[in-house]
Amino acid sequence: MMVCCAEHLELAIDVYVDKMERAPEISTIPVDKQEESCEFCTRQAEYMVGNECF
Ligand SMILES: [Zn+2]
Repeated sequence: MMVCCAEHLELAIDVYVDKMERAPEISTIPVDKQEESCEFCTRQAEYMVGNECF
């Protein structure tokens, strides 16, 4: 499971597909739970890519 900002959503999907060889589930992180930063930059993460569970 990865978290990322809107700008890196496509990159995160690419990385996931590369690793897992299947399409990830993508969900938005509720605004009040946006605590983590993007895997690829320092911006606040807006999306979860991969398994929906935390
Ligand atoms: Zn980012």
